[in-house]
Amino acid sequence: MDDLDYIKYKDKKILEHENLCKRCGACCGVQDKDPCEHLKAFESNKYFCDIYENRFGLRKTVSGQEITCVPIRNILHKTWWGRSACSYIKYGDIS
Ligand code: SF4
Ligand code: SF4
Repeated sequence: MDDLDYIKYKDKKILEHENLCKRCGACCGVQDKDPCEHLKAFESNKYFCDIYENRFGLRKTVSGQEITCVPIRNILHKTWWGRSACSYIKYGDIS
């Protein structure tokens, strides 16, 4: 596999991984009733992050509580509301 093929392969895998997410918002606190202030609804029970490209780091919830946004793989082994419904748990994909 040459460099270009590898980049294409990697991009495809990243896209496949991203597409597993069903945008339920659980990892951003939607089921806690005090989600991250950057979590926005775009249709019924579907959400997006309004700073997705720069999301990691110290953030605040709607009520002003400090939270730290981390890659999903960093919290899959922890306990949080909605974890069992997360696609990455269901499909066993924690890459
Ligand atoms: S900043 Fe992080 S926790 Fe907040 S909505 Fe975006 S992805 Fe979720
Ligand atoms: S809990 Fe899982 S499926 Fe739901 S938005 Fe977060 S990463 Fe996506």
